[in-house]
Amino acid sequence: MALLKYDLTGKRFGRLTAIERKKGPRSVWVCQCDCGNMAEVDSSHLRSGATKSCGCWRKDQLEMRKAQHVGKRFGDTTVLRISPTSQELGRTELECLCGCGNTFTISAAKLSKRIRNNRPVQCRNCSRKISDDDVRFIREERARGASLAELVERFDVDPSYISLIARGLRR
Ligand SMILES: [Zn+2]
Ligand SMILES: [Zn+2]
Repeated sequence: MALLKYDLTGKRFGRLTAIERKKGPRSVWVCQCDCGNMAEVDSSHLRSGATKSCGCWRKDQLEMRKAQHVGKRFGDTTVLRISPTSQELGRTELECLCGCGNTFTISAAKLSKRIRNNRPVQCRNCSRKISDDDVRFIREERARGASLAELVERFDVDPSYISLIARGLRR
């Protein structure tokens, strides 16, 4: 057997421990992951640090990101749990309890956007009410030439509602 250029036997790389080099021309190592899974990883990926687990690390990160809002309060709204519908929808939906007592679901992406844009996190009923400051802002922005789409994106409400506000037909 040719001398190994890199003998990784027993070495640890993140969650992985290299067990043995796979037979074959390519330098692939059979590794044991801390989670119990086995993984076959390219030697270069181990040494560069590109691969640190069987894939469970990334999965854990994803789960953590999904769960990061659970239990948090945004204004009067509390994020209760990840909705069971998430699985079938293929995206993270969060179940929330609004200050008014209604429960509602919102996608994690939408929630993040609202937080980023400083928009209230509320049920549909409550978020229809736009504050006086926002009404003023919408009218000013509209007068300055902001497009309806821009304002809808920012306020996350019906285009028709924005248009009514902008035209002064609604408070
Ligand atoms: Zn693992
Ligand atoms: Zn509400």
